[in-house]
Amino acid sequence: MKSIEILAPATMMPLVMERLGEAFTLHDLRTVADADAFRRERGKAIRGLAVGGHVRIDEAFLKDYPNVEIISNFGVGYDSVDVKFVASKNIVVTNTPDVLTEEVADTCLGLLLMTVRELPQSERWLRAGNWVNKGPYPLTHTTLRGATVGIIGLGRIGKAIARRLDAFDVKIAYHNRRPVEGVPYAYHASLKELAAAVDILISVAPGGPETHHMIDAGVFEALGPKGIFINIGRGSAVDEPAMVEALKTRKIHSVGLDVFEFEPKVPAELIAMEHVVLLPHVGSGTHHTRNLMGQLLVDNMTGWFSGKGPKTPVSETPWPR
Ligand code: NAP
Repeated sequence: MKSIEILAPATMMPLVMERLGEAFTLHDLRTVADADAFRRERGKAIRGLAVGGHVRIDEAFLKDYPNVEIISNFGVGYDSVDVKFVASKNIVVTNTPDVLTEEVADTCLGLLLMTVRELPQSERWLRAGNWVNKGPYPLTHTTLRGATVGIIGLGRIGKAIARRLDAFDVKIAYHNRRPVEGVPYAYHASLKELAAAVDILISVAPGGPETHHMIDAGVFEALGPKGIFINIGRGSAVDEPAMVEALKTRKIHSVGLDVFEFEPKVPAELIAMEHVVLLPHVGSGTHHTRNLMGQLLVDNMTGWFSGKGPKTPVSETPWPR
């Protein structure tokens, strides 16, 4: 397979670069001396792309690489790929589902507890010497006791979050486009109705045009002034200015966010707020899980070019066709 040329439009983790580099002729677009010359001279030779969500892969990008057969994506979310266009060109897209599910669910529960019980704020209180000088950290108004938690996106990760929440003895409800068979949780066909029915709303919905800004001012209004919003899915699913406004006007109580609309940029207004919890997209961020994701990306690429087929094609580009 060494004669097959593949491209990483942005440098990926060392495991991916090393293993792809061993199997294929791998080009790293960020390190080529002259990207325009590269596109002109090698563009037609590129048969596979290894991508990680940093570069938009669409018609404009692919016009320089007309012979791409596979786009192997690092991560379960592949909203940076225009999958409709790509599918129309018979290009296969793969992602890295399942191997990150439990890690992301763990992070979500951590973020949920941090936000509900104000754990980062109370830690800051201790470090600032306030425990000694001012006394105990104030009691929190919010608690998981007696709470109902709503999940937007009861898929692989959503179900793993729900399994963990079961142990916390809270009520669970959810919203998807379709109800999930065989789960004991209350289904809400309307997102706004779910928000109105719960104390804490968790989004683990994917990105992309279908979910763009679906969590909007109306949803925050329905969640209410004691409500907490947690986002571990995609930032683009949230109307960020509407969320900031809801926080400023106390239409909702607090938020805990691992994802943002324009990462790594986080609105300055959010950073200035003491009562929210902000994480830099660390959902799957352990060596253990990122290595499994990297290996799955490599296995998809080698599976394709060895004729075995991709291991985890996305639903829009099923395999076998
Ligand atoms: P999944 O199994 O495909 O689950 C996605 C869920 O979202 C499904 O239950 C789906 O149900 C629902 N959904 C999709 N489109 C919807 C819409 N328009 N309205 C309402 N519900 C919708 O995916 P997963 O493996 O759980 O991953 C979910 C997402 O988590 C990924 O796409 C990614 O963006 C995010 N993620 C974040 C991190 C992180 O580090 N923070 C890490 C991994 C993944 P229906 O099809 O019935 O609507």
